Amino acid sequence: MASMKDRTVTVIGAGMAGLAAAYDLQRAGWKVTVLEARERVGGRVYSLRRFSDGLVAEAGGEFIEDTHTRMLAFAKEFNLQLGRVGSWQAQDDDWGFFEGRAGRMSDEKIWETNLQAEIEQVWRAVAELGKKVEDPNQPQASKEAERLDRRSTADWLASLDAHPLAMNYFIQHIRSEYTTEPERFSLLDLARNAAMYYSTLERLPNSRIVGGNDLIARSIASALRDVRLGAVVTSVRVMPDDVTVTYKQNDSHLTVRSALAVLAIPLTTARLIEFDPPLPPAHRRMVDEVSYGAVTKVMIEYRERFWDEVGWNGRLATDAPIVYTWHATSHIAHERGILTAYTGGDHAVELSALSDDERIQVAVSTIEKVFPGSSDLIEHTETVAWLNEPYTRASYMALAPGQVTAHWKTLFEPAGRLFFAGEHATAIQGYMEGAVESGQRAAATILANGG
Ligand SMILES: Cc1cc2nc3c(=O)[nH]c(=O)nc-3n(C[C@H](O)[C@H](O)[C@H](O)COP(=O)(O)OP(=O)(O)OC[C@H]3O[C@@H](n4cnc5c(N)ncnc54)[C@H](O)[C@@H]3O)c2cc1C
Repeated sequence: MASMKDRTVTVIGAGMAGLAAAYDLQRAGWKVTVLEARERVGGRVYSLRRFSDGLVAEAGGEFIEDTHTRMLAFAKEFNLQLGRVGSWQAQDDDWGFFEGRAGRMSDEKIWETNLQAEIEQVWRAVAELGKKVEDPNQPQASKEAERLDRRSTADWLASLDAHPLAMNYFIQHIRSEYTTEPERFSLLDLARNAAMYYSTLERLPNSRIVGGNDLIARSIASALRDVRLGAVVTSVRVMPDDVTVTYKQNDSHLTVRSALAVLAIPLTTARLIEFDPPLPPAHRRMVDEVSYGAVTKVMIEYRERFWDEVGWNGRLATDAPIVYTWHATSHIAHERGILTAYTGGDHAVELSALSDDERIQVAVSTIEKVFPGSSDLIEHTETVAWLNEPYTRASYMALAPGQVTAHWKTLFEPAGRLFFAGEHATAIQGYMEGAVESGQRAAATILANGG
């Protein structure tokens, strides 16, 4: 580890990971420069405010779970209000739309079976699978790691004797939660997630920040002394004594020199950066090979919360391309409401290839099929396809078969003066909380090594 007499660090990326790292390092007395490609901070935390009456909807990270203590601590520190949201567990007024049939998930007449009980059977099998991972922080060290990692989640699902509708539901769960297809999702990573989250059927409630989750990112950024927006990093030169980061801002190519750098950007955009000298081979492979998923959101503002009248809570699991809907303003009392239609996996790839208007139409028409007349109440719509966002290019990491054993350890390892952070570099992967954890860990490692 380098001598850190010169306590300077360049943090690349002002998402939750980069901001959390920068915040801790600045507080410890380091001179921190944050370079952010977009004209805003927050990255995949992106609160949209173009709806009526100040209503807000989250285009990216939305649900803060009760166990997400780091995000909740930021909310408290910056005096932000939490809006409570129910848990992801089956709720009484959840609806389904499968094989052309629509209605309450609990309605046995519609589904000709106790669908919720059938789905619970699959969850029990997932909980059992989780027992194969002794430590979810070290999945590659599990006794059965190699065998599980070689297998896809699709292969495992096919071996379950599940009801076809429950199977359908769970495949959509994989698409929405992991934003990839079961064929391309490592069974070891599903087992790791099961060990972390699914050991019981009980799920904890969630919150959103009232006024927008990005208020956390903005609050941190406003406490930082040097955040440069519109600064697209193009190359990173790691020398024995320092790191030189080159970025493009407007038409200028500029450089920052510092003792260390934290790379807090998705690996999908790290691929486009020139590293000199080249990254160590394991890091190069990690940056190039690690798989990501795809996700789109369509947010639809309705003049009335028509769902209240029909006893629907806004949560619709579907086998249609939109995959899932929910009520994005459930934590706010208001006449109007916003439904989010969320799509992950290959359907999201397909929807990303459409124009915004076409994508919105797919979501609107699916909801219209289940609730005829709802389209007449639409006031405003928004959509984001994260695959098309040049500084994200994906949803979040979704490890394919073989990739947990190949890359897990490297995801956490610094490469000389370069530290990695981001939702991919944490066991709480795919969450805002995980991004924060990775940033705080990068800062703590730097400080522990002489800062
Ligand atoms: C649709 C969607 C829904 C989600 N839902 C939830 C949820 O409900 N709950 C939850 O906890 N999490 C959720 N997540 C995940 C969560 O949003 C992310 O895990 C987290 O925000 C990632 O933070 P990060 O700092 O790792 O990356 P990012 O937020 O992507 O930050 C990286 C930053 O680096 C910048 N950057 C990229 N390339 C460069 C470059 N070359 N030069 C300079 N800057 C660059 C980007 O502009 C960005 O600001 C969701 C994500 C998506 C996309």
